[in-house]
Amino acid sequence: MHNAELIRRDLAAVWHPCTQMKDHEWLPLLPIARGEGVWLEDFDGKRYLDAISSWWVNLFGHANPRISAAMKDQLDRLEHVIMAGCTHEPIVELSERLLALAPPGLARAFYCDNGSSAIEAALKMSFHYWLNSTGRADKCRFVTLANSYHGETLGALAVGDVALFKTTYAPLISEAITVPSPDAYLAQPGETPADCARRAAAALEATLQQHAGEVAALIIEPLVQCAGGMRMYDPEYLRLARAACDRHGVHLIADEIAVGFGRSGTLFACEQGPITPDFLCLSKGLTGGYLPMSVVLTTAPIYQAFYDDYTKLSAFLHSHSYTGNALAARAALATLDIFEQDEVIERNRALTAHMARICEPFRAHAHVAEVRQRGMILAIELVRDKATREPYPWQERRGLTVYQHALDRGALLRPLGNVVYFMPPYVITPAELDRLAEIAWECIELATLDPVPFGDINSDGPSGWLA
Ligand SMILES: *Cc1c(COP(=O)(O)O)cnc(C)c1O
Repeated sequence: MHNAELIRRDLAAVWHPCTQMKDHEWLPLLPIARGEGVWLEDFDGKRYLDAISSWWVNLFGHANPRISAAMKDQLDRLEHVIMAGCTHEPIVELSERLLALAPPGLARAFYCDNGSSAIEAALKMSFHYWLNSTGRADKCRFVTLANSYHGETLGALAVGDVALFKTTYAPLISEAITVPSPDAYLAQPGETPADCARRAAAALEATLQQHAGEVAALIIEPLVQCAGGMRMYDPEYLRLARAACDRHGVHLIADEIAVGFGRSGTLFACEQGPITPDFLCLSKGLTGGYLPMSVVLTTAPIYQAFYDDYTKLSAFLHSHSYTGNALAARAALATLDIFEQDEVIERNRALTAHMARICEPFRAHAHVAEVRQRGMILAIELVRDKATREPYPWQERRGLTVYQHALDRGALLRPLGNVVYFMPPYVITPAELDRLAEIAWECIELATLDPVPFGDINSDGPSGWLA
């Protein structure tokens, strides 16, 4: 198999996610033959450092021997069984361990098979709880933060606020109530991140005062709005939002699909409040990046509101075919084993500090407005004008230029618009981080030149950047 041959066959048969397929007339696909640790390799043996953990799912590297061994063992016993009426060891052990690790007060685990469907389940459960426990069907709306992202299915899209993904489908989805984000990038002159969080919390309070009667839940991405450009905020907001929800009889849904499992520096971002949400949604890193699986953790009182005689029809009659998949559960257990045995959260502190140190010079770059970091996520915000923070027009696709040059140099970066970020597997070494920072610097230098040297906006079309 050759790179070119696989690309040709792919482009005749496959429709790729989140992609304008016409781009691939000039932007080559990256054919991957194998992965090992932080490295991906194409069919010519060229290697790429997976700096974004393959869309934020991979924690301990590709083809991790420990996770692979656990899955191979499981494969010969039980691959999958219907989860309604049946159970199996991996899912019971996984539930017990997740509940023991999660913020105190979470007592039940409900499984789905991807992040968006976990969000759907949490939204439905919240609405249904109010219906079951109080007979109220009017608590049917959701409050969401500006610039938030919760997935692509219609219910998840409804509580998201990234226009690029949402605007087209507006006629299909119900309207959420959007409150300001505590995003510290939006701090006013003289404001600390905590001030910024307090200002956003005051706006939330005002909204809940007005709308609590019709609101089932507030949904947030704790500490980092990842798809919204790795925007970060102060933990003070978690505490204030939790208190506001309690005051007004509104659930708090914490979407830790991206930030869970150590990304934020703690196992769960909610720990930094510390708060316990009414629903905690987890996916992505749950299986170490091996298989799709998600879970909604919730409290005993919420579980109890569904627990009654069958004829009361108060059960949560929601399911997905692959709910509680045994292979995925084994991958998740192996992932939790690694966290435990290798003291990963502890060890990541050194990597986090190293990343901060080597990225310090980016702050001085003429086209960098901010370098921000929360645990194992570091983001570099590119702007046209450093003084006014005027962004580059999206049409210029500067981030895509970074992507192209980084591939040339052996790194898979995938900027979000003008935000270049590192979200590497935790098995990356300090030397590999050094190389990554070097590559990012060179690519940002090239991508902030005028005119942009690569990209479809050049009338000459593709340059031969990847043979
Ligand atoms: C990725 C993501 C989702 C959606 O998960 P999928 O598995 O892609 O459906 C939801 N919320 C957040 C915060 C995410 O980052």
